[in-house]
Amino acid sequence: MDLEKIAQSLDKVLDAGRREIPFGEVADYIPELAKSDKNALGIAIADRSGQVYSAGDVETRFTVQSISKVITLSIALETCGYDAVFQRVGMEPSGEAFNSIVELDLVSGKPYNPMINSGAIAVTDLLMGKINFTQMLDISRKLMRDDSIRLDEKVFRSEMDHCERNRAIGWLLKSKGIIENDVDEILKLYTAMCSLSVNACSLANLGLTLACDGADPVTWERVLSSDTVKVVKTIMLTCGMYDGSGQFAVEVGLPTKSGVGGGLLSVVDKLMGIGIYGPSLDKKGNCIAGGAMLRYLSSKFRLHMFQN
Ligand code: GLN
Repeated sequence: MDLEKIAQSLDKVLDAGRREIPFGEVADYIPELAKSDKNALGIAIADRSGQVYSAGDVETRFTVQSISKVITLSIALETCGYDAVFQRVGMEPSGEAFNSIVELDLVSGKPYNPMINSGAIAVTDLLMGKINFTQMLDISRKLMRDDSIRLDEKVFRSEMDHCERNRAIGWLLKSKGIIENDVDEILKLYTAMCSLSVNACSLANLGLTLACDGADPVTWERVLSSDTVKVVKTIMLTCGMYDGSGQFAVEVGLPTKSGVGGGLLSVVDKLMGIGIYGPSLDKKGNCIAGGAMLRYLSSKFRLHMFQN
């Protein structure tokens, strides 16, 4: 793998993404997110030596949103174990939108997977009383090798004031006996984790930690166990792009997770992490330019995990 070549091509990669921006929209169901610059676009790639290559808007801070589901699931697997987590949430793609409620009520006794809102809310409930937000923030900083990560209070408040749908999901989970704690308290922790402010470099570093089996590739300090990382990457591959996960796995072939703040986290196993920021989203809530950029990178440099 010629990382230098990839690094030199980043401007072309940005061009491939930029063309798609007009076809998407910024998320507006959280009013504070509607203020994002639709045309912002950046990419960062972190390699095993810890070196970060980047182009475009990589310093801009944005909220991690659903990419926090990767962190919350990792922490739950480490804290509560595999059996406790998957007693409460499934591991199948839902084929529905990230904030869907129908399949939860009509088809399944528990949320389909931890990458959609219902699943992440159920996993958050499991963590209540075992770990607090400050400790989760601390782990997030370690995973992303970024001590500047903090809570974006404005986005947090904006979402808490407009989270009727997540509240409905929470109460439905409660009515089915899937969650135990106070719905409001669970939503506060869930939303706080969604409101962590990161940049494309932080996401690239998180991807690198996952690519390196849960260890910091520079210090070799282990942050997550190998078993946890195996499960998390597999679920990212099968469920990380919601109802676009199947097509994305075929076309890109990299475990990836999106957030409505415009972030994309991608893992090139054993090699590197990729972080992308582009708040223009496709209809499924995934960064539209980032999808094109990852398709370009995957095909040009043969990064698909099932292609040599
Ligand atoms: N905080 C957002 C929500 O719960 C996260 C959704 C997302 O990024 N897809 O709706």
